[in-house]
Amino acid sequence: MAPRRHILVVGASLAGLRGCEALRREGYDGRLTLLGAESHEPYDRPPLSKQLLAGSMQPADVALRRDPWDDLALELRLGVRAERLDPNAREVTLAGGERVAYDGLLIATGATPRKLRGVAPLEGLHVLRSLDDALAIRRALEKGPRVVIVGGGFIGAEVAATCRSLDLEVTLVEALAQPCVRGLGETLGAVVADLHRDHGVDVRLGVGVQAIEGAGRVERVRLDDGSALAADLVVVGIGVVPEVGWLEGSGLRLRDGVVCDASCAAGPPEVVAAGDVARWHNPRFGEEMRVEHWTHAVEQAEACARQLLGAGEPFAPVPYVWSDQYDRKLQIAGRVGDGDDLRVVQGSFEERRFVVIAGRGGRLSGVVGMNRPAPVMRWKRRIADGISWEEALAAAEA
Ligand code: FAD
Ligand code: NAP
Repeated sequence: MAPRRHILVVGASLAGLRGCEALRREGYDGRLTLLGAESHEPYDRPPLSKQLLAGSMQPADVALRRDPWDDLALELRLGVRAERLDPNAREVTLAGGERVAYDGLLIATGATPRKLRGVAPLEGLHVLRSLDDALAIRRALEKGPRVVIVGGGFIGAEVAATCRSLDLEVTLVEALAQPCVRGLGETLGAVVADLHRDHGVDVRLGVGVQAIEGAGRVERVRLDDGSALAADLVVVGIGVVPEVGWLEGSGLRLRDGVVCDASCAAGPPEVVAAGDVARWHNPRFGEEMRVEHWTHAVEQAEACARQLLGAGEPFAPVPYVWSDQYDRKLQIAGRVGDGDDLRVVQGSFEERRFVVIAGRGGRLSGVVGMNRPAPVMRWKRRIADGISWEEALAAAEA
């Protein structure tokens, strides 16, 4: 492979920045450009729903790059949106028409919040993805609003916990039978629902949102069952869609993300994708995945950097996520869902300190822990080892 002379990274956030850092660490000394649509320098999103929202962190505290930028020797172009990709010409066209040529491209454009269908913009109606979103919600929280959260996923659960820590009145509305069902299944979702009820959240399950009403600003949320919740602030957290609009017509395969092979190449070997935007074949589980979590974005960006430098190998992580809610740390590794065999191997749901392992297809497939970080990491290694469910049960007894 001819040495690369210009690697372009589109998306100046976690995957994009960590990709640049990995390229330099791996010895790439050619031209490097990192471009991103936001005007802020790359920042960390996890504190946006927790410490930054609560006011215990400031914007300067969430910067992703702590070391000097000069060490990276890159062109950082902020407030610039990529609009089109031509992989044959190896060119990206920016808003305004400028064309940027590359011989290596890392796509790291992340994801954007899904909108509630048929709901018009109103003052007091928010989503949470960016630093600007978080600061707008924080300003609104200072007025002591009645908060309604739509969606009981990670955003919903974490924003509810933060708002309760500020002693605000909070209602959480989730259309499914339990919160966090996608990542946890119903049994463990019920544990999360109880955690929030115990902290004073009004948890409404199995009911959708029909309308958000108000004259110019939010006044109430009307639910499918006809009831109405008075509200001054509504945060909608109903999932995200991958940011692939700029890749339409490029010829890359797009299906709920950029479709990549096991080495994260998105078709041409010089085009790779990492983080929330990337759907790739994970050989460890023999299935296609798109993972929307922090650790994954870092690991996949590093794998992409190696791939661009010709040292790529199949990327086969055990997906991992943490979520801080109240004084609890929830951790999930691997895959856990309805229909899995579940076994509590330490602690109990009642004390909200436990480790649960999950079996699927005769293998250990996942682990969920609450306030038990060390054993979760041990079980994560066993998932990586590919042990059977029988072996997992024997290890739990040992
Ligand atoms: P993003 O962080 O979404 O970055 C993509 C960047 O690309 C954005 O800056 C965007 O503006 C830019 N971009 C998009 N389109 C274009 C374009 N056409 N041209 C140029 N630039 C473009 N994960 C955990 O594991 N634990 C947590 O506790 C946790 N907390 C979270 C809290 C919040 C509030 C949020 C929003 C996410 C949280 N996550 C957490 C998830 C984690 O932050 C994401 O998985 C991670 O940010 C993904 O990184 P990324 O670089 O792939 O995408
Ligand atoms: P999410 O975790 O995917 O959860 C979205 C939730 O909203 C799901 O329970 C979903 O149910 C529900 N929902 C979907 N449509 C709805 C509707 N019309 N009405 C009511 N509920 C609806 O997404 P999120 O909470 O919005 O988070 C956004 C992104 O940030 C995700 O990528 C997430 O991983 C990330 N994030 C991660 C963390 C963390 O890892 N700790 C923290 C915050 C944010 P269905 O399953 O039926 O769609």
